[in-house]
Amino acid sequence: MTEMLLKYFREQQKQAETERIYNTQCPYCSMQCKMQLVEQTHVKRKTYKTIGRDNPTSQGRLCIKGMNAHQHPLHKDRIQYPLLKVNGEFVKISWREALDYIKEHVTEIQEKNGADALGVYGSASITNEEAYLLGKFARVALKTKYIDYNGRLCMSAAASAASKTFGMDRGFTNSLQEIPFTECIMLAGTNIAECQPTIMPYFEKAKENGAFIIAIDPRETGTTKIADLHLKLKPGSDAALANGILKVIIEENYLDERFLQERVNGFEEVMQYVASLEFSVIEEITGVPLEKMYQAARMFGQRETGMIFTARGVEQQTDGSAAVQNFLNILLSVGKIGKPRCGYGAITGQGNGQGAREHGQKADQLPGYRSIENHEHRMYIADVWNIEEKDLPRKGVSAYEMIEKIHDGEIKGLFLVCSNPTVSNPNANFVKKAFEKLEFLVVADMFESETAKLANLILPASSYLEDEGTMTNVEGRVTLREASFPRRGEIKHDWEILCEIAKVLGKEEYFSFSSAEEIFNELRIASKGGIADYSGITYERLRAEKGILWPCRSLTDKGTERLFETRFAHSDGKAMMVPVSNQAIVPKAKITKKYPLYLTTGRVVSHYLTGVQTRKSASLSARNFESFMEIHPSTAKKYEISNEELVQIESSYGRIVVRSKFSEGIRPDTVFVPFHWADSQNVNNLVSEKLDPACKMPGFKVSAVNISPSVKRSSY
Ligand code: SF4
Repeated sequence: MTEMLLKYFREQQKQAETERIYNTQCPYCSMQCKMQLVEQTHVKRKTYKTIGRDNPTSQGRLCIKGMNAHQHPLHKDRIQYPLLKVNGEFVKISWREALDYIKEHVTEIQEKNGADALGVYGSASITNEEAYLLGKFARVALKTKYIDYNGRLCMSAAASAASKTFGMDRGFTNSLQEIPFTECIMLAGTNIAECQPTIMPYFEKAKENGAFIIAIDPRETGTTKIADLHLKLKPGSDAALANGILKVIIEENYLDERFLQERVNGFEEVMQYVASLEFSVIEEITGVPLEKMYQAARMFGQRETGMIFTARGVEQQTDGSAAVQNFLNILLSVGKIGKPRCGYGAITGQGNGQGAREHGQKADQLPGYRSIENHEHRMYIADVWNIEEKDLPRKGVSAYEMIEKIHDGEIKGLFLVCSNPTVSNPNANFVKKAFEKLEFLVVADMFESETAKLANLILPASSYLEDEGTMTNVEGRVTLREASFPRRGEIKHDWEILCEIAKVLGKEEYFSFSSAEEIFNELRIASKGGIADYSGITYERLRAEKGILWPCRSLTDKGTERLFETRFAHSDGKAMMVPVSNQAIVPKAKITKKYPLYLTTGRVVSHYLTGVQTRKSASLSARNFESFMEIHPSTAKKYEISNEELVQIESSYGRIVVRSKFSEGIRPDTVFVPFHWADSQNVNNLVSEKLDPACKMPGFKVSAVNISPSVKRSSY
């Protein structure tokens, strides 16, 4: 009887089960892995799982973040209705009330203080359409010059260096398919094993094929493990290390003379400058033994093909832009670019770190990588937007500088989209104080992040599962992110929110879009003729071709797999080398008696940015539920710190408390803390506000700190 009953129930359950598949794309890193959400409906409940889907970039792979990405959009804490802060508490209001509230405050602030009293802070996690629209919204609907975005803290140094050296900035100059066949790879300041795990097989394949891999990092990581040579430099000394390698390349003559003569400007100046440097000084600055610099230079110089990749380890410094330029000097000196299996990649952090920096959310930029200070560019975009050129605001300031203007009272209101700046910016204590001064803060987000908590109004924004649009991945490949998962409550897409606000502000005629595709079609026209030209890309093509590498200038253009084969993007077709000093113009933190250790920061595999989304995923959160400080056991002994005990870390900017984690793989003069946590674990409380003068990147990667067992322990 029991058997029969069980059989009956199993049959019943089988019949009740339905399965639905939603095609989508991972919302996290720049690999933008294609995936599917599988929804199974059982008798009493639904279950979900995410699986990989084949595509040219991630080839069906997913990392732990991607596999669990659905857990945050389905989380019970999703904001589903507009929330207005009343007497310190958020209360649910209607969209009509929210829009009226916005209209009233925008009008009042701008009438009293001028258009620039409002700012806009965007994101590199939103789609290309939304990044484009946000730039247009700031300049056309609000008429403010103050717009910038969180990508400033991520990709600005690499973008600035590539623009100066090559005349254009696309994440990777080749497609990833070429990596397995290159013979020498330099990975400078990039921990791809944790930050972009599904890119790793390209490098592992290269190694299998005999490539020599050089890793540059103050710590041993999953990435340095695959390296044949690890240069464990002092944090902040990347520019000097590149000079050391360059000096060997020049001295031992691995130069590609013909390439330098025909395709490069500035080599003579670099050669003279590098000749004036002393190896002993470089050794002292970097902490890297000279023989290791020789080994790196010889391998990179002697091998027929090679590639250099940089990421935040090199870039998030007050000379990040120059340091990247110096690695590009190495690449150009040996002529390893613009040829098969040779090239440069800036490993983008955020999902749309590439596309979001091309179409107008940067303070100085118009769509298609146009400049907001270039008259011709202004005329073109004014024409696309159907406004007068004179009405287009001029250049604003970078993300952190905008926050300083908030603190000074010049910016009184802010629209914030999909970002958590009070946690992610340097000098975070100051940033929080600045945000508390705002008269008017509107945040479009999925969750009550630390910054959203400070808002007057939170608008419920859609997630990657619900919001269709294009993204541009680490290669510069534009992909279409399908999204058909139903939205809950009164959630809207970011682009819909912007159009509705524009409408109540009387700017409907410029924002009358009814789909992401319509916005993309305007973006195509706006980008036409620009550096990042998307004009030949359509949704139809993206569906059929599974992504297109820009520039793509016409409907018959296949896109551009490899850049710079015949010319660089400067007007004379040549690349530009410039001498790079061993020392930054804006000095980096130096260790002293009071602050005797270097602090460097980075990511862990299970979290994304400030962790607002990944902490909503039980599976990811469980892997790393708190921050930590990686420390060499010999250093810990000196400071009487045990493994896994709470430690106070203090810089001249603030203090935090995190748990120690011993590692033999980190330099004894350095500690490492990941940046995914807020409040008393927010490592950005310790980081200086100093910016790279070239690109306004903060110097996240090097601070000077002191450490001690936590106060709690000392009171035992
Ligand atoms: Fe792919 Fe990056 Fe998402 Fe991992 S986090 S699944 S590597 S896109």
